[in-house]
Amino acid sequence: MIEFIDLKEQYKRLKNEINTNIQKVLEHGKFIMGPEITELEKKLADYAGVKHAITCSNGTDALLIPLMAWGIGSGDAVFTTPFTFFATAEVIKLLGATPVFVDIDENTYNINPEALESAILKTIKEGNLKPRAIIPVDIFGQPADYDKLEKISKKYNLLMLEDAAQSFGAVYNKKIAGSFGDAASTSFFPAKPLGCYGDGGAVFTNNDELVTVMKSIRVHGQGSDKYENVRLGINGRLDTIQAAVLLAKLEIFNEEINLRNKVAAKYTRELSGYVKTPCVKEGCISTWAQYSVLAKDSSQKAGVLNNLKKNNIPAAVYYPIPLHLQTVFKNLGYVKGQFPVSENVCERIFSLPMHPYLSDIDMNTIVDVIKKSV
Ligand SMILES: *Cc1c(COP(=O)(O)O)cnc(C)c1O
Repeated sequence: MIEFIDLKEQYKRLKNEINTNIQKVLEHGKFIMGPEITELEKKLADYAGVKHAITCSNGTDALLIPLMAWGIGSGDAVFTTPFTFFATAEVIKLLGATPVFVDIDENTYNINPEALESAILKTIKEGNLKPRAIIPVDIFGQPADYDKLEKISKKYNLLMLEDAAQSFGAVYNKKIAGSFGDAASTSFFPAKPLGCYGDGGAVFTNNDELVTVMKSIRVHGQGSDKYENVRLGINGRLDTIQAAVLLAKLEIFNEEINLRNKVAAKYTRELSGYVKTPCVKEGCISTWAQYSVLAKDSSQKAGVLNNLKKNNIPAAVYYPIPLHLQTVFKNLGYVKGQFPVSENVCERIFSLPMHPYLSDIDMNTIVDVIKKSV
């Protein structure tokens, strides 16, 4: 049986470490903000090469917390891509701000910097919204084009929040994903490259003031005392038990990223010429949160997915509907055809099983089915 993501195999390998770490928490009983949280935050910050990492409840709150700290709200424009998981745009709208969508690059599927600059200029010209922030998404594990994005954010004085939910640990020009922008967010949802055994997330920043405000927001906007509230916040802490799990997994994370890259390299070798394989830019190392390919068109995709299913091979579609066409965003006024690259990619894309423990034999089976279906 081929798994889409094989968490059981990983657990087998780390069973002793994970069990011991969880046992320790059960015995000391500090389930909320226990010592494992502080230890993990230090290790995560070191790993990303930033001053501060603060853990939190999930990857969605990891996006929400910095936006709240920046006071993003009604009348503000926040630029992001329609080709991402819903949470990226959801948090913008939750705060009363307006997501302004920008089409993606046709090879990396990350935000297109030229289209971003046009969207900023258009928003300024229209004058209804105040451009405040950019949320680039490192889709499938490959960092966005931060050289260009940092120039744009400086030029227009915009805050930048890196959505590194899929890319924590990836490399862009020798820097680690999770270290870009004014803050970066990641998710430890079990299926992410670094996942815990429930929900979890983290925010990264080099800014001391920002981290103080974010820590307050994480616990109901608390002040210096637990029962003094100086602002509105959320209940956004990570459980100590999840930190204990992550501490064990972090030890082998680099090795797992290497293994994922071996799997990706074999897929690409085998599948080029049959489907459009992923394009990793020079200077980048992906974490391969997903290995996603494009079929020629939607009917070829349906055929391949059907054959994979018949052969008991799990596959997934990230993402079938671009966010500008989601029902909930209807009132933003976007129409079909507005972001042709995102729309075309949504029609043609599908993702293959991807995890560090995928065997050559299983990969050969997967590849053969695809080759015979196109
Ligand atoms: C998974 C994901 C999130 C949300 O993370 P959760 O931990 O599920 O809340 C946000 N953005 C992107 C791009 C994601 O893939």
